[in-house]
Amino acid sequence: MVARRQPVRTPTFGGERMPPAPPASTPEARRRLQELPRKDTVPELALRSALHRLGLRFRVNIAPIPGRRRADVVFRRAQVAVYVDGCFWHGCPTHLRVPRTNREFWEAKFAYNRRRDADTDRQLARAGWRSVRVWEHESPDQAALKVLALLTSIAKR
Ligand SMILES: [Zn+2]
Repeated sequence: MVARRQPVRTPTFGGERMPPAPPASTPEARRRLQELPRKDTVPELALRSALHRLGLRFRVNIAPIPGRRRADVVFRRAQVAVYVDGCFWHGCPTHLRVPRTNREFWEAKFAYNRRRDADTDRQLARAGWRSVRVWEHESPDQAALKVLALLTSIAKR
C-alpha cells in the first residue's frame, strides 16, 4: 500500500490557497528559514518604542477585524492598524532577493503574500479601518511620525 501524504492545511484568503512549500533544499536552508523571526521582530519593537516616545498607546499583535492577519500595532478607537512588513516575506522592492533554489515556489509565495496584504488592506477599509504599512528597513522614527500624522488627521475629522 502506498502511504498518502495528508494534505497540509494552508492559510487561505478569498478562496485562494497558499502555494505548497517544497522541501527545504538542505537542512541548513530549513534552519535558516525557521530562524527568520515572525513575531516581535527588532523592527516591530523599534517602531513600538518610537510610538511610545510620541506618547501613543496601542495594542500589539491583535487582529483588527476577525479572521485577518494580526496587525503589529493597533489603535482600536481610531481604527488604525499598523503592519511592519518584513523585506523578505513581503517582497520589498529594494531588498527582496528571490532565493535561487526553488525559485518558482518563492516567486509564487511572494506574489501570494502581496495579494494577501492587498486583500487585508481592502477588507480593513471595508470595515472602516485604515492600514499603515511600514517596511522593516524604514526608519522607526519616520514611520512613527507617519502613524501620528494619520491619527491626528482622524482625530480632527
Ligand atoms: Zn526593504
